[in-house]
Amino acid sequence: MTDNFHFRVLLYYQYVSIDDHRTMAQKHLNFCKELGLRGRIVIAPEGINGTVSGTIEQTDRYIAHMHADPRFADMWFKSDLVPDHVFKKMFVRARNEIVTLDWEETINPNETTGQYLNPVEFHRMLQRDDVIVIDGRNDYEFEMGHFYNAIRPDVRSFKAFPEWIEQKLSDKKTAPILTYCTGGIRCEKLSGLMLKQGFKNVFQLHGGIDAYRKDPKVKGDLFEGKCYVFDDRIGVPVNHVNPTVITHCKHCGVVTDRFANCAHLDCHTRFYVCEDCERKFRRSCSSACAEAEHHEWNVADTASL
Ligand SMILES: [Zn+2]
Ligand SMILES: [Zn+2]
Repeated sequence: MTDNFHFRVLLYYQYVSIDDHRTMAQKHLNFCKELGLRGRIVIAPEGINGTVSGTIEQTDRYIAHMHADPRFADMWFKSDLVPDHVFKKMFVRARNEIVTLDWEETINPNETTGQYLNPVEFHRMLQRDDVIVIDGRNDYEFEMGHFYNAIRPDVRSFKAFPEWIEQKLSDKKTAPILTYCTGGIRCEKLSGLMLKQGFKNVFQLHGGIDAYRKDPKVKGDLFEGKCYVFDDRIGVPVNHVNPTVITHCKHCGVVTDRFANCAHLDCHTRFYVCEDCERKFRRSCSSACAEAEHHEWNVADTASL
């Protein structure tokens, strides 16, 4: 089925010290544009985090270029074949952190991070009844899909984790803790944070859900729903053993994983919607939004979802 997929999406990160990250960001943007890549890359003094799409040749050249730099020589590029670009533009941003935690102490995952588990080890530990499984992503990512026994952290952004952990888990300092996120980058910090907060037994899924869904042994088993991704695909299948859909149409409640942004431009809320309700409510999250002005929807758009 993927034989005629001549594009590739790359997902990668590296925690490594980068001097003059602003200059690097500027140069890197030019380089990516010259190659013809599209996507989003963040560069900070603590490292690089990126997801880009391009042809197989373009992405091969990008990987070779990065691996030739001693700082990124070991960088793990996770990839998917796709029929076309999954981004519209190329952005490279200079930031203070690649994963913004903004905590009282700096977490350097090269010094402090949880023990890595490969997908097979993670799959095994997931089924123990003494583990606490923490989803290291945001609530809307959790909603689309997650491991069956994961706790949904009540956080709207990564910065809210330290406080949430202190409040909810402070009596679980010796329990085995499993953390996971999309590609592994957030758990490097989240598990490091938990160690600094006094947790003794902290593990992380190395390579995240992305590595887990591609592992030939576990085949995404024990994951419910799809994995939210930050590109045009929105969600990707994970579980090839027993796939399920766990989301519902906001209007009629039917099971669906069709996802849209409210067409009322001042709302733009993310929601799940079945095909019938999308038409009926003009791809709006509510009747009020459907009737609002400043609304962008036409029937032809429906097919693209
Ligand atoms: Zn519906
Ligand atoms: Zn709305």
